Amino acid sequence: MNIETAALHAGYTPKNSEPRVIPIYQSTTYVFDSTEDVGDVFDDPTKALIYSRFANPTVMAVEDKIAALEGGIAAMCTSSGQMATLMAVLNICGMGDSFISTAQIYGGTMNLFSYTLKRFGIECIFVDAAAGDEELRRAFKPNTKAVFGETLSNPTLAVLDIERFAKIAHENAVPLIVDNTFPSPALCRPIDFGADIVIHSTSKYMDGHALQVGGVIVDAGSFDWGGGKFPGLTEPDPSYHGISYTEKYEKLAYILKARMQLMRDFGGYPAAHSAFLLNLGLETLPVRMERHSANALAAARFLENSDKVESVSYPGLESSAYYELARRYLKSASGVVTFCVKGGKAGAVRFMDSLKLASIHVHVSDIRTCVLHPASSTHRQLTDAQMAASGVDPGMVRLSVGLEHIDDIIADLEKALKAV
Ligand SMILES: *Cc1c(COP(=O)(O)O)cnc(C)c1O
Repeated sequence: MNIETAALHAGYTPKNSEPRVIPIYQSTTYVFDSTEDVGDVFDDPTKALIYSRFANPTVMAVEDKIAALEGGIAAMCTSSGQMATLMAVLNICGMGDSFISTAQIYGGTMNLFSYTLKRFGIECIFVDAAAGDEELRRAFKPNTKAVFGETLSNPTLAVLDIERFAKIAHENAVPLIVDNTFPSPALCRPIDFGADIVIHSTSKYMDGHALQVGGVIVDAGSFDWGGGKFPGLTEPDPSYHGISYTEKYEKLAYILKARMQLMRDFGGYPAAHSAFLLNLGLETLPVRMERHSANALAAARFLENSDKVESVSYPGLESSAYYELARRYLKSASGVVTFCVKGGKAGAVRFMDSLKLASIHVHVSDIRTCVLHPASSTHRQLTDAQMAASGVDPGMVRLSVGLEHIDDIIADLEKALKAV
């Protein structure tokens, strides 16, 4: 199926006289005929449903759809993008391990990696997204278990050279985890370029309508966990009567361990109703992404020609340092444009407060145009050095271009720039 078709049909195929639309299975629990049947699913929880802390039919249909969209073999939804990031890392890193991440990442991920995971005894080694091969190779330690990056980084819009990062991760026998939130599978499928695990904040374009917070982990099913670095996957799990995930579930080892162990122990599974809403967003994802990209490119061109604007960063512009990488990896450059208004922080604030159509809200990738000032919001907790390393300038505005008519969007930008 092409992606437009999969967005509508993957994950749920109604049989004779069943509902056309995925039903909402609003139930915490599932009924069994006998005590023995219950015992059997505790031996192998992939056999039937047990409890909605880690599996639910509505959510599972959406998981299958997302796996199809990303070209993975299976997926697991989570209650937020943050939970997806946390579980993707914790599934293979424990106390005393390290992993490598690009420094150009979402502010919340930066906090999680720099502080909270450190308290778990897990070290994050940061490298620049533009680091050369040798610099990247030198960053590895014997205890390094993964490499992490964002396809198109929030908010700095650096494009990850997925094939190069995957190659060097694989040379070191560790997987590449890619956060593909900004392009969505409609514009990039990291697995096609060698990524092993793909995660999303589904709160963004996948939902698209600013309705519910969620996340997902997709497993490509292609990574070989048997090289000796991942005993959590290959050795017996005492919390599951001694099974080895790789022996029992082979290609599904990573994603089933995440569900059977981490989701069981931490919770963090979305409600059926949230998954139902997410599915509505997914149905139109490819169509929406085309228009988001077209509108964003027009807005970026307009901003680039304004004398009130210091600089514009949008990988779809020929002037962008990431233009070539964007052409290689993205069908189009998605809907987010960042730019620096002249006059630094004061200029940015004056511009934002003068907008009428675009709203100020702590969100991005919405069907409605919205703006945010990263330095005083999402990146507020970072030190100046971290902010500089992640590429956030005090005058930077993050513009998330919506699906309004482009003339109305540009008229709003034009008026607000006049006020600067
Ligand atoms: C928003 C975002 C997250 C966090 O997702 P939540 O759903 O808000 O928890 C992670 N990565 C990226 C790139 C994001 O934009």
